Amino acid sequence: MKITILTLFPEVVEPYLNASILGRAQKKSLVEYSVLDIRTFSEERNEAVDDTPYGGGAGMVMQVGPIYNAVTHAKSRTAGEAHVVLLSAKGGSFTQQKARTFSQKQHLILICGRYEGVDERVASHIADEEISIGDYVLTGGELGAMVIADAVTRLIPGALGNAHSLEEESHMTAGFKAAPQYTKPEMFNEWQVPEVLLSGNHAAIAQWREQQSESQYKEDKD
Ligand code: SAM
Repeated sequence: MKITILTLFPEVVEPYLNASILGRAQKKSLVEYSVLDIRTFSEERNEAVDDTPYGGGAGMVMQVGPIYNAVTHAKSRTAGEAHVVLLSAKGGSFTQQKARTFSQKQHLILICGRYEGVDERVASHIADEEISIGDYVLTGGELGAMVIADAVTRLIPGALGNAHSLEEESHMTAGFKAAPQYTKPEMFNEWQVPEVLLSGNHAAIAQWREQQSESQYKEDKD
């Protein structure tokens, strides 16, 4: 799978993609990340990528031209169909289900907006969908692109050291919450690890974990 991130700030994104599970997945050739600087696709002499909004209003708006050029370039470098996502505070919600859908794509292109946002023609003519990572407004789409790249990469077979890690993770099915985890020491201050986890009784442990997951799900609904 290939994930291309289009941004005005490549230096914000690159370190995250090269660390930990994402970095290892790339070294194992399970995923290829490509970070493109939108500014280099500007056709203006001063590499401008934004301008004032038609109709007036605060701030600057990212222009459609450089983004169109960057997406066209990204598509031309990879065979197979690309799915183009615009990060946007007013987009549809990013969920585990969406991460699963994205992990099936051959090529995901993530467009990071900045300033007051992006010329609407990017959403209506270039992107396949707009995605929000939560009901708040960020300064730019880069954190959203990293959230998507992370959640998608860990779903690619082979990306996690132990494939079973995915089986009991929160949100793998609607509303599911993983059971609490503990490690050594057994006692810290006066905080004891639940006895059942030390019992060696696998059936009892499985039952306890199931109950814990269910009770967290109920708490959420209350
Ligand atoms: N004026 C826009 C609005 O009210 O919806 C907000 C623009 S925001 C300052 C700049 C960029 O950050 C957006 O174009 C988008 O790419 C990104 N962004 C901000 N909040 C986001 C969110 N919750 N999810 C995804 N991207 C977000």
